[in-house]
Formats: sequence, C-alpha cells, structure tokens
Amino acid sequence: MNIYDEVKGAVTIGISGHIRPDGDCIGAAVGLYLYLKKACPSADVQVMLEKPADVFSCIKGISEIHTDFKTAVECFDVFIAVDTSKERMGEAEKYFDGAKKTINIDHHVSNSGCGDVNYIVPEASSTSELIYQVMEDKSFVDVEIAKAIYVGIIHDTGVFQYSNTSPSTFKAAAELIAYGFDFSKIIDETFYEKTYVQNQILGRALLESILFMDGKCVVSMVDKKTMGFYQAGPHDLEGIVNHLRNIKGVECAIFMYQTDTLEYKVSLRSNGLVDVSKIAVFFGGGGHVRAAGATMQGTFHDITNNLSARIDAQLKEIERTKV
Ligand code: 5GP
Ligand code: MN
Repeated sequence: MNIYDEVKGAVTIGISGHIRPDGDCIGAAVGLYLYLKKACPSADVQVMLEKPADVFSCIKGISEIHTDFKTAVECFDVFIAVDTSKERMGEAEKYFDGAKKTINIDHHVSNSGCGDVNYIVPEASSTSELIYQVMEDKSFVDVEIAKAIYVGIIHDTGVFQYSNTSPSTFKAAAELIAYGFDFSKIIDETFYEKTYVQNQILGRALLESILFMDGKCVVSMVDKKTMGFYQAGPHDLEGIVNHLRNIKGVECAIFMYQTDTLEYKVSLRSNGLVDVSKIAVFFGGGGHVRAAGATMQGTFHDITNNLSARIDAQLKEIERTKV
C-alpha cells in the first residue's frame, strides 16, 4: 500500500486507533498524522485517540490529538483505523462508519480487515512498522515522524526482544535512527522508566500472583480498591503481565485489573506454545499468538477458571498431537 495514493484528493482525513492506546497505536497514529500533514498540505488531517500516557509527550503532535473526539467534520473523506478493528475504536467508530472511504492498517491476527481498503499483516512487528512501509515517498519523513514510528516499534517488540521482531523491523529501525534522535533516552523514558507507585503495584502484583497448572500458568490481579489506594490508572499497570510471563516454566501468564463490579480487563501472554489470541477471541477480545487481551465479566475466580480451561485444553491438545 502507498498511503499517499489512497488518500490523494481527500479534503478531510481522520485517523484513530484503539481504546486505551498503547505505544504502537500512538506511534502509528501520530506518525501517520505528521506524515499526511506534510504529504497532503491542503488537507485537514485530524487524529483522535484517548489521552496518551504522559511518557509519550516526547512525540511531536501528541498535543494536537483530539482526545475529546470532538470535530467539526461531519463526514470524513477518508478515515484510517490503525492498530485496531473498528469494534475497538470506541468513540471514533462513528466517524469511521460515516466516512466516504475507510482504510484499515493493522497487524492483529484477530483482525480480518474492516476498511474499504485493508493492509493487515499479522507477521509484522507492529502497526508502526507497517505505517513506515506505507509511507512510500520517504522524502516527507523527518526526525519527528521517525521518532513516533520508532516509539511504536520498540513498544510492540519489547525493544526488539519479542519473536515478532524480524530483519525488516531492524532495517526500518536502522533507517529511523539515522534521522538522528536520542533513541536510548526515548527507550528509557517511554518503556523502562516506571514511577515509584508503578513499581509498588508491580511488586504487589508479583507478590500476590498464583502459580497453577503445575507451574505452567500464573495469574495475578489488581482490584479497584487497590488502584484507588495507589491512585493508579490502567497506564500504571502496563508491563506487569510481561514480568509474570518471565517466570521460569510458565507457558501462559494472566494479568487482570478490575474495571467495574464483576468486570476485568484481562491481558494474556504466552511463551509460544499456547495461542492466546484464540483464547482472547473466544472471550470477545483479540490480539496476537503471544500477546492478547479481552474484557471479561465475572469474579476473579470465575474468569481465571474460564481462561484456565481454555489454556488446559490447548496444552492437552498439543500433548496429544505430540505422541
Ligand atoms: P494488552 O494485554 O497489552 O492490553 O494487549 C495485548 C495485545 O492484545 C495487544 O496487541 C492488544 O491490542 C490486544 N488486545 C488487548 N485487549 C484487547 C481486546 O479487548 N480486544 C482486542 N481485539 N484486542 C485486544
Ligand atoms: Mn500493535
């Protein structure tokens, strides 16, 4: 896909991603926004996302995001959904539905494409890497665009650690750092650095985690009361599930935080054996083979039971087909 050809002639262009946007979603949406503003100077380009975490303020254009989802545009000529399918766009879904032309760029295996034009590549490290690919005319790419894309790539690859990292990811990253920004500082500030409170909650979640299924599974939870005590929001819990996955012997890690009475946002991580995307899709969510999520109803124990039944079934099936 050459994104310029797809939006050529559009007077109004909207861009959005998923609710509770993560680094990849933010990098992809804002990187694309900065690019289209340069490539299509006469177009009105708008980006709508829920308010990004403060650590992303190093990305130029972050303050130009319509975080209230308000716009004077009634019907966008083109609306682009990045890193998501339309069901997970929250308030932006209505603009997507009302647009004259829709484009969907994503790397979630659970997304079959919801646009008039789709560029869905499940093998890609990140949507940000795909966004960099569709910027065919690289003459518009500048240091700020490069920085946004780079942030997206490092977040979805765990700083080039996860198995979704490929030679093309490194090629893109090599080109991006050549624009000249302090990538080391960006990695530290947006990915590794945690506030004292974030570390305290991480500590608690690890301390209270429960190992089960002969050590193949681990689960932990943070309830509303605890989040209130620490004055913590969802942003403060990012990364906890990855620590759980790192426990030796664990095939599948579950982390959840309470969003309402009998409602939890669940994160699933696998070390490759279990396909957590299938499990998340079953419960109305989605994601990738090794990282997926869903919002689930019930008590912590109900949800854990329901998830572990699916995990157990997959592990048994793997065991059965091995012999
Ligand atoms: P996380 O556990 O970090 O929230 O998400 C892991 C992966 O699963 C990410 O790629 C994320 O986009 C996806 N994901 C998380 N929650 C949901 C959900 O409720 N629905 C869908 N479709 N994908 C999700
Ligand atoms: Mn992503």
